[in-house]
Amino acid sequence: MQYQIQTAPIWEAYRETDGCPLCKIFAAREKRLVAQYLDENVMDPDFRVASNSVGFCPEHIRAMYKGHNKLGLALQLETRAAALHELVQKAPTDKKSAKKHAEKLDAHIGCVICDALREPMSRYYMTVAEMYDNEKEFPQLFAAARHCVKHAQYLYAAAQYAGKSASAYLGALTAGLTRDLRRTETELRAFADCFDFRNAGSRPDPEAVTDAIKLLITNDLNK
Ligand SMILES: [Zn+2]
Ligand SMILES: [Zn+2]
Repeated sequence: MQYQIQTAPIWEAYRETDGCPLCKIFAAREKRLVAQYLDENVMDPDFRVASNSVGFCPEHIRAMYKGHNKLGLALQLETRAAALHELVQKAPTDKKSAKKHAEKLDAHIGCVICDALREPMSRYYMTVAEMYDNEKEFPQLFAAARHCVKHAQYLYAAAQYAGKSASAYLGALTAGLTRDLRRTETELRAFADCFDFRNAGSRPDPEAVTDAIKLLITNDLNK
């Protein structure tokens, strides 16, 4: 049953052919979590304990700041500030304790949303590999997909879940990634060549840089 629940969004994302399917799954879950942290989680003691303890990363606090619940955000930041206040109130007395103090503080600087995404996303990577082995139609979609480098890395790490198809899975993943990197190199070269005086009049493709960033770094440039 768990497998079926996991496969539905994967089929959907892989059937769309514009960009990395796992970035789409990630973005959908991330969007739901940001909304939750602005809404029902604000008054939930368990969520508050976690957000007071580790806080939010810059990317996710930006997303929350853009949302429509400044009061919910203020309440969470207030108790986060109180938790940090308690943590730092005793001044370190020497170099050694200062180092420990820094480490303790570092352990409390993280992100509840990033943490909440880690586990379900790693289940998706496993399921993708399992689907490569189990689902007749899936290898073709997988081979055609434009996986970003970050998600390709996670898919490499999940290869064991492709079982007897592991080597075909790894071959398809590598062929796809090299195909997309080669295409990106060509597009960026063409983009740069447009600025060469010998090519006066040729117009750079405005998508070349955006597409390269999507493949190499992040699918969402508008956060
Ligand atoms: Zn991706
Ligand atoms: Zn985060």
